[in-house]
Amino acid sequence: YFISLEGGEGVGKSTQIRLLAAALEEKLQKSVIATREPGGCSGGDAIRHLLLEGDLHRWTNATEALLFAAARAEHVARVIKPALKEGKWVVCDRFIDSSLAYQGDTGGLTQGDIRCLHRIGSQGILPDRTFLLTLPEGEGIRRAQERDKNKGNRFEQRTIDYHKKVNDSFLQLAAKEPERFRVIDASGNPEEVHRHLLDALDDLLP
Ligand code: C5P
Repeated sequence: YFISLEGGEGVGKSTQIRLLAAALEEKLQKSVIATREPGGCSGGDAIRHLLLEGDLHRWTNATEALLFAAARAEHVARVIKPALKEGKWVVCDRFIDSSLAYQGDTGGLTQGDIRCLHRIGSQGILPDRTFLLTLPEGEGIRRAQERDKNKGNRFEQRTIDYHKKVNDSFLQLAAKEPERFRVIDASGNPEEVHRHLLDALDDLLP
């Protein structure tokens, strides 16, 4: 199965990806692919670099959407599809819903535009289950700022209002596709959140 984790900055996606992949490997007794986007393969990482590092470039919204879609196309073709074909589980930090929320609803492109790019780049592949991790307003951004104190990427200049819009957009996406999405309160400790995720995969596990 293909599982994605979504949510705003600082909700703990990377920790949960790590815990989830380890728990699934234990349960399934086979290797699980834990990956992230933008990135996940050499071409995807090169595009991630263009998007996230330094402030040489100020991409237009459209260019940004195209770059995210291109990174995803590489990642799907080179990592995700081959793994699924081999019968492996894939857990991915962000996927199409991040583009719908960031480049679409918040970045000014339509949902139709983003889905069209996804169809061209990645044959419209969707996860079997998507977890939306949520935190009270402001809490995720506070955590992310603490985490990224010394690194920083160009997206840090986004305002609180921007992040609020992204969160609203994610919640709307989840409400539209209740079969694929599970909304998970990420305010507990990592172990608690992890248990919620595993419970919400019960129907997919053998
Ligand atoms: O998930 P992660 O925090 O590594 O994402 C890196 C940055 O890329 C974040 O600041 C996120 O807001 C941004 N991003 C984006 N659009 C996407 C995926 C990520 O703006 N589709």
